[in-house]
Amino acid sequence: MARHIDILEHPQTAIEVAAATLAEGLPIGLPTETVYGLAADATNPAAITRIYETKGRPRFNPLICHMSDLAMAERYAIFDPISRKLAEAFWPGPLTLVLPLRPDSGIHPLATAGLDTVGIRVPQGFAGDLIRAFDRPLAAPSANTSGKISATSADHVDDDLGERITLILDAGASVVGVESTIVKVEDGEMRLLRPGGLAASEIERVAGKALKRKKKASAAIEAPGMMASHYAPGAAVRLDATEVSENETLIRFGKPDIVGSENAIAVLDLSASGDLSEAAANLFDFMKRADATGAATIAFSHIPDEGLGEAINDRLRRAAAPRE
Ligand code: AMP
Ligand code: MG
Repeated sequence: MARHIDILEHPQTAIEVAAATLAEGLPIGLPTETVYGLAADATNPAAITRIYETKGRPRFNPLICHMSDLAMAERYAIFDPISRKLAEAFWPGPLTLVLPLRPDSGIHPLATAGLDTVGIRVPQGFAGDLIRAFDRPLAAPSANTSGKISATSADHVDDDLGERITLILDAGASVVGVESTIVKVEDGEMRLLRPGGLAASEIERVAGKALKRKKKASAAIEAPGMMASHYAPGAAVRLDATEVSENETLIRFGKPDIVGSENAIAVLDLSASGDLSEAAANLFDFMKRADATGAATIAFSHIPDEGLGEAINDRLRRAAAPRE
């Protein structure tokens, strides 16, 4: 069973116990503003191997390396002017930059799946403080079994991985609720590798240029590990529902008119007021709750594709994708 430490009640103990656990090469459940991470020392191959094994994650799927600040990130990666500008504007925050790795950076190739680039993010709050104290980058994917719904609370982490890890830090529900936006700058062009908790329009505003998006048809494998089926609940998932049947649970956004709602197993409101940030924060928890209703299918009403809706719809398309 994993030990839980509440970081608000016991911040100092949390840092000390977490740093000692990481130094042993063990992964920990770590709250960040996006989702809960399964974090381990990015310079220690045994520690990184434990991340892949704990999650059942394919090793060709690189991990995001978390840093305490831009100065630390510059020790590991080479920044072009646009990436630096984005880092200065949005770090700490839900933005991951894919950057050329410095030779002999010390980040183990297992963390980057052998690529000559590294995905770097500076998380807000406690996670950043822990990295500063530990003084090494933390590789951290979401703290859930690979392919399943991401964890946005310490209880989600415990339910899924509690038997396989020794420590879970608890900071309550993740504020943003979806993973980071991933951007790669190449030849002065910005490419959106994954929509996420920072709206694309914000990035474009700061950079003063457009983000290039991948074509929908090739959405599955643009970046290593961007599998088509992901975020999969036990139930099937159906999008843009306008009607619902009695063996389905309905998840609504705004106040849509859905035929047959009164017969659904349950009806959950991601955001009754139509607030996309609120919907993102609720998304994964509501998918788990809908799954727990025993519905054969979870039906989602339409969610607009603007702002954080782009990240929400990306996750939902993959939750609805055919499963292998
Ligand atoms: P997650 O699956 O949420 O842990 O996010 C990690 C994702 O970041 C991976 O699935 C990759 O798509 C992306 N990523 C991480 N590092 C790199 C990299 N060096 N190059 C391209 N994509 C990367
Ligand atoms: Mg994940």
